[in-house]
Amino acid sequence: MTWETVIGLEVHAQLATRTKIFSGALVEFGADPNTNVTPLCLGLPGTLPVLNKQVVELSMRMSLAVGCQIQPRSRFLRKNYFYPDLPKGYQISQFQSQEEMPLATGGEIEVPTADGGTRFVRLVRIHMEEDAGKSIHDEDFVPVGESMVDYNRTGVPLIEIVSEPDMRAPAEAAAYVTRLREILIYTGASLGDMEKGHVRIDANVSIRPEGSSELGTKVELKNMNSIRNCQRALEIEVDRQIETLEAGGEIRQETMLFDPVREDVRPMRSKEESDDYRYFPDPDLVPILVDQEWIDRVAEQVPELPAAKRERFAAEYGFDDGIVEVLIADRSTADYFERVVGAGADARQAANWVQGDVLRLVNETGAAVDDLKVTSDSLAALIKLVANDTISGSIARKVFQEMAYTGDDPSAVVDRLGLAQISDEGELESTVDQVLADHLDEVEKFKGGNKKLMGFFMGQVMKATKGQANPKLATQLIQKKLSCPRRARSRPDMV
Ligand code: ADP
Ligand code: MG
Repeated sequence: MTWETVIGLEVHAQLATRTKIFSGALVEFGADPNTNVTPLCLGLPGTLPVLNKQVVELSMRMSLAVGCQIQPRSRFLRKNYFYPDLPKGYQISQFQSQEEMPLATGGEIEVPTADGGTRFVRLVRIHMEEDAGKSIHDEDFVPVGESMVDYNRTGVPLIEIVSEPDMRAPAEAAAYVTRLREILIYTGASLGDMEKGHVRIDANVSIRPEGSSELGTKVELKNMNSIRNCQRALEIEVDRQIETLEAGGEIRQETMLFDPVREDVRPMRSKEESDDYRYFPDPDLVPILVDQEWIDRVAEQVPELPAAKRERFAAEYGFDDGIVEVLIADRSTADYFERVVGAGADARQAANWVQGDVLRLVNETGAAVDDLKVTSDSLAALIKLVANDTISGSIARKVFQEMAYTGDDPSAVVDRLGLAQISDEGELESTVDQVLADHLDEVEKFKGGNKKLMGFFMGQVMKATKGQANPKLATQLIQKKLSCPRRARSRPDMV
């Protein structure tokens, strides 16, 4: 029998706000434990939550980007459970039922499939909630066998993005999270840094006989913070489910944890029903009312999304997939590239520079593209200096280094360092004469038929001029001096 895999994902994304969802405490990665904590974060009596408006706006921006319907009225509810990292004894979240709607419902994300096509993965909803704190067991300062808790993360704003069970392979789930993360970053809803836990995945997976339309019993794989781990965990779990069913066993509905080091999935707990959480509306918070005007205003903040950009870059510039992916991987890189082109540089050249030296500089310095000392205007000016033969391509890279360091204009750098290309025939001719006089042996060999030595002579001329010789002119001069007749075009097919 062949089995079909069915996957639905619940992805938590941390919103890119300065402060927490219901208090003025800072959202800050890597702060000393329990330093970004207010009495509200600790759930102390007498404190009252105040909703951070930016949380609603960023959630709406993401929701609109993926085609969700924004609900005119939604509520926060209390999801009650006990855990040391949840000092209030409940998490403020949203829920979906007849009476209580989450902020956004519906929507879809287009995901590439294994057969080269695409699939639209439908979304159930996007809802807002607060993060819990963090239990710490495995740091040096925690005594063996004990746990400590850090409340810096309590109240950090999240959206949970819940998909329909529309994915049919672990690789599709990975592609879905990849696309989702891209959109989160493009819209500015989240910084999307997975290493900092900004995007965390709960994956639900079941199998069923191929052709069946009923859903099998699902297992939930909790809290994965890497896309690769998510795919790997799903592959392992699908294999386990197939083995179990084929051996005549049954799948139990449970929650499992993936251990990326041991590469196995282990049961964590049997799944709670939502009834266990005793959801009820939080009496401290008023309903969230969203009118059309607010929606329109936020809709204007939704930028061109990666999928549209991908298509446009391919069509408008004729680039192949590889370079398009590099350029659009990051919105500010894509914008930078387009500003370079907008400032009059050739698109192909601009793409080469961005893909090469610009991104290398970003990697080396850790600076954002927009903070580089080489602005899009000055890169465009540099590209034009090459195009009009003022400097050669290899000198341009030297100039770029200097610009990266000083922030100077390319022509200022060229003037200051005297890097302009030598295009003066008389000046270049004496250099060529000198090079040939210094290498009489090679000149003999060249005349004897070793034409490969052309490259050697060019190299010597470049060395003598510190790379500043106009290559076209230098080639012509060397050829003239060695008076090699134009190579007769050989036509092997006619011999
Ligand atoms: P629960 O009540 O257990 O939270 P939901 O119906 O809310 O279940 O679904 C949670 C997630 O699990 C959704 O992303 C959904 O797409 C996915 N899901 C539901 N049923 C299945 C199934 N049988 N196989 C795989 N995924 C499923
Ligand atoms: Mg659920």
